[in-house]
Amino acid sequence: MLKKATLRTLMEEINRIANQPCIPASSSKTPPQITIHTKWCKKCGICIAFCPKKVFDVDDVGLPLANRPELCIRCMLCVIRCPDFSVDVDRPAENPEKKIPGP
Ligand code: SF4
Ligand code: SF4
Repeated sequence: MLKKATLRTLMEEINRIANQPCIPASSSKTPPQITIHTKWCKKCGICIAFCPKKVFDVDDVGLPLANRPELCIRCMLCVIRCPDFSVDVDRPAENPEKKIPGP
């Protein structure tokens, strides 16, 4: 059972994260690493269609190409929507100072 104070801290942290604006990767130094596992990809185009930032192009055999990684906002829609688990987008390094204290 969580203590009230811990629960309050957790709720405050969740609200703080939920209210943070999406920070375009272009404002950070390194654009995200976007990987397409071409052996698994069935060229359905879902990742391309769902990407809100139009990061992908299509190559001449129908595979997605992450040609504009600097526009990626790490929303993870491409990763979540890919039916074949063929897209990876690296996550930003964790800041240990932002970790939620344990109970
Ligand atoms: S994480 Fe979002 S913005 Fe980045 S490539 Fe995937 S769908 Fe596009
Ligand atoms: S959603 Fe997945 S399977 Fe479909 S084109 Fe994109 S990477 Fe390939």
